[in-house]
Amino acid sequence: MATLALWLLFLAGVAAFSAQVARRVQLIAAAPNTFSLDHLGVRTSRFVVDVLLQWRTIKERPFTGLMHAFVFWGFVAFGGYTLAEFLYGLGIVDLTQAGWFHAYRLALTPFATAVLVGILYLLIRRAFVRPVALGPKVSVESIVIALFIATLMMTFLLTFALDEGTTAARANWWAHMIVILAFMALIPASKHLHLVLSPVTVWLKSVELGSLPNLDFEKEQVGLETVKDLGSKSVLDAFTCVECGRCQVNCPAWGAGKELNPKTIILQTQEALLAGERERKLGEIYSDKVLWQCTTCGACENQCPVGIEHLPILIGSRRGLTSNGEAPEYLGAMYNNLERRSNIWGLGYDQRTKFVQSAELETFDATRHDVMVWLGCAGSFDADFQKSLKSMFAILRTCGVKFGVLAKEKCNGDPAKRTGNEYMYQELANANIEDLKAAAPKKILTSCPHCVKTIGDDYRKFGYQVEIVHSSVYIEELTREKIAGDRSRDKVTFHDPCYLGRYAGKVDEPRALLERFGADISEVERNRENPYCCGAGGGLLFSDKEEEQGTRISDVRFKQLQATGANTVVTACPFCSIMLKGAGASAQSDTQFVDLMSYVNGKLQPRA
Ligand code: SF4
Ligand code: SF4
Repeated sequence: MATLALWLLFLAGVAAFSAQVARRVQLIAAAPNTFSLDHLGVRTSRFVVDVLLQWRTIKERPFTGLMHAFVFWGFVAFGGYTLAEFLYGLGIVDLTQAGWFHAYRLALTPFATAVLVGILYLLIRRAFVRPVALGPKVSVESIVIALFIATLMMTFLLTFALDEGTTAARANWWAHMIVILAFMALIPASKHLHLVLSPVTVWLKSVELGSLPNLDFEKEQVGLETVKDLGSKSVLDAFTCVECGRCQVNCPAWGAGKELNPKTIILQTQEALLAGERERKLGEIYSDKVLWQCTTCGACENQCPVGIEHLPILIGSRRGLTSNGEAPEYLGAMYNNLERRSNIWGLGYDQRTKFVQSAELETFDATRHDVMVWLGCAGSFDADFQKSLKSMFAILRTCGVKFGVLAKEKCNGDPAKRTGNEYMYQELANANIEDLKAAAPKKILTSCPHCVKTIGDDYRKFGYQVEIVHSSVYIEELTREKIAGDRSRDKVTFHDPCYLGRYAGKVDEPRALLERFGADISEVERNRENPYCCGAGGGLLFSDKEEEQGTRISDVRFKQLQATGANTVVTACPFCSIMLKGAGASAQSDTQFVDLMSYVNGKLQPRA
């Protein structure tokens, strides 16, 4: 009788679970396939670190993350126990009397205690502490699930206190089994589905931050316009979100009071998918305004503990808007500049030529030069940044490095790509690739982190592969042995550019350089691999300050930098430099802004 009752409950639980999961699987299967399984080694190590060791969860919020990890490790450890109890209860096989099972059961007691501590902490945090990342509404379903987990652990621990075969022991056993089945029925429609999906989502996450496959115009791809265009990975992502809000609190746009909230983007996607709104326009779901507020800094997907990728949705939707001529006006002007003059400011090419002549730069020749220097739009046309480049040239010459530049250079295409103008990006990229192939450099050196990302990562998708290094990395290595610095200690702070610190992971080299040349670094909050954006990326360098919602991202960042007490801010990206100098000027501050190369060059002393 008891076996039959458990069978009925079991089948009801499995049916409820399967029906809800099937709906989600169907939606994933119906989406255009964007799953990729390349780089198996990277995926495996990431799986071990982020899923098994829960490192990403712990790193961002150490104590809360550890409590969560206790629950996860307990969930895994209890897998065999739960299976054995069901096999026994359903009358299939009784493993519970085996010697190994008793030892296993005993070994589970520390896990049960840890889970209990972890879940009670998380329950109090969700129900009473309510950190801003969790949103203002208390989720009843979360509370119920937490109470279920606590009950499971308590009923397990009680098995050691109750005599086998007594009514109390049987009631305890039934309570344990019924809660598991209720848990199973509740999971798929809740954020706790991440327990099942997140290992898969982390595994399938692209190995490249902000991964954006090229659009294929021959197949008439235009980007994401409606819900049915979302790729299978984005659909899977939407069902994996655990609503922790890590993406939200790390988003510089949200932090500066804008409407964009990456967590909301994912939850809106989930809602539209489950409502079957396949034909609904994405610009209507997220709002066009919100889509243009993203700087593409990558903080959201880099912080997400369950492998969700926001940028394919955000930039994919921008592609859809741009292809329909719905990009904001300020971008229209920038696109015009790119189209007519191949640079973001629309300046005449003669200005680059003048700079090349004044800096006495040679045209790159692979037989004579060690490295090709890529100037970029800023290096070609921005007078301030040209001073920094001249500093870099001076260092290279002091160290005896032979270098040259391309006779002609177009914008690498980053501002077009990140704002969704894929057609323009591909035109620029293909033209540059042709020139680069003809020049055949083995190594390219640049001071622009956006050029590193675009030429190094994005051009590879056209089959062009070249080593491109940021000046902070190249000059750090170069000056290790060859030259000594003035070691009078200056108090400075360093702003990590998103495309250098977060995208390329280059955080030690700029610091090593600064310290070698006499800097005493006061670290700013949000630094190294998780910097706070300057606000320039994703085309926002060109946006109209007056029309922006909330505070400017650069103003928020400038205040953080000022709070270090350092009067000198060192930057390593032309766009960070423009944005932060602008913020400093608005604040009428006397803070000095120095590019890393100028700082180093100012301290150079030939070795005696
Ligand atoms: S990429 Fe940066 S700005 Fe864009 S949504 Fe993510 S965190 Fe926010
Ligand atoms: S997208 Fe990721 S980081 Fe953001 S709320 Fe969901 S699970 Fe958390």
